[in-house]
Amino acid sequence: MAAASGVTMARHLERLCKRRRDVEIILVSRDNFILMTPLLFEVCSGALDARHCSFPIRAFLRTTRFVEAAVQGIDLERRVVHLSGERESVEMGYDQLVLAPGMRPRGRLFPPCLTEPRESCKFPKSGRSASSG
Ligand SMILES: Cc1cc2nc3c(=O)[nH]c(=O)nc-3n(C[C@H](O)[C@H](O)[C@H](O)COP(=O)(O)OP(=O)(O)OC[C@H]3O[C@@H](n4cnc5c(N)ncnc54)[C@H](O)[C@@H]3O)c2cc1C
Repeated sequence: MAAASGVTMARHLERLCKRRRDVEIILVSRDNFILMTPLLFEVCSGALDARHCSFPIRAFLRTTRFVEAAVQGIDLERRVVHLSGERESVEMGYDQLVLAPGMRPRGRLFPPCLTEPRESCKFPKSGRSASSG
């Protein structure tokens, strides 16, 4: 599930810091949804619409503040994260930072990619890539 690690971590921290008024948990992601990746194969085959594989991140969170933005860089010395949102770029300070940016698929690990040219093998990683065939 896309962003599952980040959301799971946020939920864990919510439970851990339940009575801590001095703690603010912030989840940053450029996607405001969780993607049920096992369903992407059905999107590829046309059995399912890409819209039906994603669920809003905010619905999974209780006290965590969600920020929809892309992380452009991290200044470890100053303890700030550089974010770019739809309209502006901002810096966000932190005390503790957890990174869960996911990964890119390595096509060559999948059997058809061992024999076919790399360009002809596609591995769905988003609703858009799954529905584009
Ligand atoms: C087609 C497919 C089928 C799968 N089937 C299964 C299965 O059946 N069972 C199973 O256990 N696993 C399955 N997986 C694997 C599972 O989806 C991944 O293990 C899981 O998505 C990893 O979650 P994650 O939160 O670590 O990373 P991701 O799901 O990749 O989420 C990372 C999030 O971070 C965000 N992000 C990344 N960089 C930035 C940045 N710079 N700024 C802001 N946001 C950023 C991304 O937009 C994304 O929302 C499948 C994967 C695929 C692609």
